[in-house]
Amino acid sequence: MIDLRSDTVTKPCQAMRDAMASADVGDDVYGEDPTVNTLESEAAALSGKDAALFAASGTQTNLLALLAHCERGDEYIVGQDAHTYKYEGGGAAVLGSIQPQPLDFDDSGKMPLDAIEAAIKADDFHFAKTRLVAIENTQHGRVLPLDYLHAAAELTARHSLALHLDGARAYNAAVALDIDLATLCAPFDSVSICLSKGLGAPVGSVLCGSNELIARARRWRKMLGGGMRQAGTVAAAARIALTDGPTWLIDDHRRARALHGALSQLPGASVRDDWCQTNMVWLDFDDTVGPELKAHCHDNGVAISASPRGIRLVTHRDLSDDDIAQAADVIGRFFNR
Ligand SMILES: *Cc1c(COP(=O)(O)O)cnc(C)c1O
Repeated sequence: MIDLRSDTVTKPCQAMRDAMASADVGDDVYGEDPTVNTLESEAAALSGKDAALFAASGTQTNLLALLAHCERGDEYIVGQDAHTYKYEGGGAAVLGSIQPQPLDFDDSGKMPLDAIEAAIKADDFHFAKTRLVAIENTQHGRVLPLDYLHAAAELTARHSLALHLDGARAYNAAVALDIDLATLCAPFDSVSICLSKGLGAPVGSVLCGSNELIARARRWRKMLGGGMRQAGTVAAAARIALTDGPTWLIDDHRRARALHGALSQLPGASVRDDWCQTNMVWLDFDDTVGPELKAHCHDNGVAISASPRGIRLVTHRDLSDDDIAQAADVIGRFFNR
């Protein structure tokens, strides 16, 4: 199967498997796993923050950030269609008693700054206390530019709010902008980065931030049952993802552009041109065509996902240039049938 459903389907490469097999390990709940400790210092250095914490998933690192920044009865401002709000089971509200204030994204995946400012609650006991703004980058594969991120940081500083980045695919944004990760993360108080997507690790995400914030997050991670013992076995693969992964993303982005280019030629295919900025290609269809295309692809060895939001095709390191050409051909046959 040529699997275009997500970059989460990437499997650990041989170098990762070898590193996992020979990893130096200890009890990470005692702080004694050397591989986890090294991974955490490398992630802190790369993101330009004081400290980092390794956790099981991006859902968990986002939750840890919200729990570490906010108190019960606080509120965070977040995109209506953001992962943190919509696709994480409502964890901040359920487990943290933190109220979300969702806002619509504009056409480029940003929450307009004036909408954020208007949503910040006055200090009045009728209201939850606005405490944090969460931004997602990339947002459905689209890159939010640095000037927007800096303007958001200026706004949150002015209102004494924390600024969190759901940077599940932060490296895709950094690669697309041709800047280093620390520059992308500089406007933020905390950053969550998935190592298990395009970066190719089998498991894991990191939360990066100040020493105090990470110490609080570490306490919450234990409470959530996220303290892992000889976690160096997975951190060893995660270290390779951090070091080598960003160069693989360059190819992922090139292949997404190639796929986008091929699909744009097809009569009747509605490809979102301005959304192809990293490793995703989006197509629009009405409700009946999506499932038909999905079934046609499946019968021809190509896995895609179709949802009411559209069809999202994701490139990743387990696909070759030939796979992309073949997938474009299979989709092309559907439109030319
Ligand atoms: C994938 C993803 C996450 C976290 O997902 P996990 O599967 O829990 O690692 C968070 N935010 C965004 C935008 C994502 O795409």
